[in-house]
Amino acid sequence: MSMPTRAFVLAALIAVPALTGAAPRLPIMLLDGESGGPWHKWQLTTPVLKKQLEETGLFQVDVVTAPPAGADFTTFKPNFTAYRAVVWNYAAPDERWPAEIKTAFEQYVTNGGGVVIVHAANNAFPGWTAYNEMIDVGGWRGRDEKAGPRWFMQAGTLSSDASPGPAGSHGRRVPFLVTMHNATHPIARGLPKAWMQQGDELYANLRGPGKNMTVLATGHSRPENEGTDRDEPLLMVLTYGKGRIFHTALGHDVNGLSSVGFTATFQRGTEWAATNGVTQKVPATFPTADTVTYRADLAAMDPDFEKGLNRLDPPPPARAASPFAGTWTITGDVAGNPVNTVCTLTVDAGGSVGGTCKVLTGDTKSTGQVKDATLTFQVDVAHQGTDYVLVFTGKTESPTAMKGTIDVAGNGGAFTATRQ
Ligand code: ZN
Repeated sequence: MSMPTRAFVLAALIAVPALTGAAPRLPIMLLDGESGGPWHKWQLTTPVLKKQLEETGLFQVDVVTAPPAGADFTTFKPNFTAYRAVVWNYAAPDERWPAEIKTAFEQYVTNGGGVVIVHAANNAFPGWTAYNEMIDVGGWRGRDEKAGPRWFMQAGTLSSDASPGPAGSHGRRVPFLVTMHNATHPIARGLPKAWMQQGDELYANLRGPGKNMTVLATGHSRPENEGTDRDEPLLMVLTYGKGRIFHTALGHDVNGLSSVGFTATFQRGTEWAATNGVTQKVPATFPTADTVTYRADLAAMDPDFEKGLNRLDPPPPARAASPFAGTWTITGDVAGNPVNTVCTLTVDAGGSVGGTCKVLTGDTKSTGQVKDATLTFQVDVAHQGTDYVLVFTGKTESPTAMKGTIDVAGNGGAFTATRQ
């Protein structure tokens, strides 16, 4: 080795690490610029995602904003290869990107580039085959059974349902339990087995090729919140060529992003996608199975923020309870025969009456109908070896009092009832 070259090498070895004193930050592209509707406010969520990444000290984030619909894309040439990972806070339709951009992104990932998919980014590009293999499951923008089956976890196994139907659904934004299915993946290591995500959309009915994803975490989509009753994939890792992809279905809005669970899994997932490892510690404030935790500093980045969890979706309006539903003590008389019973009646949204009445032989079913302000229900009873059908027709006189007639095979009578 000649002296000049050797001197140069030594200088380089000494100068670069010694002067900075820390590893250089990993360059990350944060891609935004479009979403499927005004409910995904990327202008508000991008600054939160940027702060979450940069506060780790690991990343240097450049926000790249794609042109809007209808704009000229000929000068939009994102330099993917300059970055260790591309974070997608972006959901555009198929026609938006020219083929060259799609090809450049495919090559970037194939050659080892990292990808992070955040929430509605899995709505993007339903017709771009490579992109759908990178996300493995997606929803909306016209996706249906042609996109692939629905994927979910069942008894610890990734399962699918190919029956037809649209892809993508969610209920109201309420807190829900996230269950981990993997304790050894670098992103998952050290996280509690189950933890609460604060008010967020729980994506369900996601469909796609499902070729090679590993589901790290699921959430149970509850039927009472317009759900599937399935354990829906929420945190996934997969590979495409040499590239690593972290896909989080969490993070609808600033409120959802501000949860410590989202924040930490997003930070860890981005590090894994960029480096194939995770060096970050799990924060001490990470949520538990029964406690939501969130970052007030992040939540306050939404201009509508007032305080904490007060911006959850409200419960659906309560259906006015039927005035006839409840337990009634009934006293009456039919042709000199006393009628005494206690009926617990239910009335469904269509006015159908169900429930039971106590008679001498035990409980017997009541059936009937509420029409306008009148209740009609019948009770079948056996008395001294004969079956009778008692038909009650009544109206309320107050919230706790009802009055009406009884008919038994053409014999008329009357009753009064009081609510217990
Ligand atoms: Zn959303």
